Amino acid sequence: MMKITDTHAHYDDEAFDSDRDELLSELLADKCEKIVSLGCDIEKSRFNIALAERFDGLYAAVGVHPENCADVKDGYLDELKELAKHPKVCAIGEIGLDYHWEPLDKQRQIRFFREQLELARELNLPVCVHSRDCTGDIMDILREYKPNGVMHCFSGSIEVADELLSFGMMISFTGLLTFKNAKKAVEAARHIPLDRIMLETDCPYMAPVPHRGERNDSGYVIHTAEKLAEIKELTLEETVRACNENAERFFRFGQKKG
Ligand SMILES: [Zn+2]
Ligand SMILES: [Zn+2]
Repeated sequence: MMKITDTHAHYDDEAFDSDRDELLSELLADKCEKIVSLGCDIEKSRFNIALAERFDGLYAAVGVHPENCADVKDGYLDELKELAKHPKVCAIGEIGLDYHWEPLDKQRQIRFFREQLELARELNLPVCVHSRDCTGDIMDILREYKPNGVMHCFSGSIEVADELLSFGMMISFTGLLTFKNAKKAVEAARHIPLDRIMLETDCPYMAPVPHRGERNDSGYVIHTAEKLAEIKELTLEETVRACNENAERFFRFGQKKG
């Protein structure tokens, strides 16, 4: 049985409260090579580190999500820096911009995003970037930083993909790739070289077809892998092997000294 690395999940989420430990044991035994669980604020980042300490294949990313920066105090950067030194922390994330929800404090989101990009650079860690309804602003910032990063849950155009690739960034796809209306994402996936693509679930959200609407978990990453294999006209094995290798190279799992 081929194991797939899920590069973006949220196992701190309360959707996993009833069965988190059994589920992670099962997933890491049978289905997943590695899993990265990302924090969206300081508390959740801390939670994910504690979880990663208990499961070999589980790694943590620490960061403040743009939706949460209104509630996070200004001293957060020092706390984040401390957390990021943990040997199981493999990235800063998830960070970025999200202009979907009102009320909106764009200036604060932009400041937090820049501060965390700088922290990642200082600590020599990759970043996991979230982008929604903000393409102009986020591309301006990424153009400036050209971070060692991944644009997660990609659903943008080929043009945007090309520019991200030109910065040296990776691009990752969720179950969104399997949705009927995901034509743009499918075109982008066809276009992006396989050595720049990673697979993710963003669970508990974004469950792929045929599980849409259910709680997502890292086991369902197989559906996104199958879709990508179909798009790339490769076998599932070839596709998974490439995406797993990309994840190893990008996150440098386990290579960090404690
Ligand atoms: Zn996101
Ligand atoms: Zn996420």
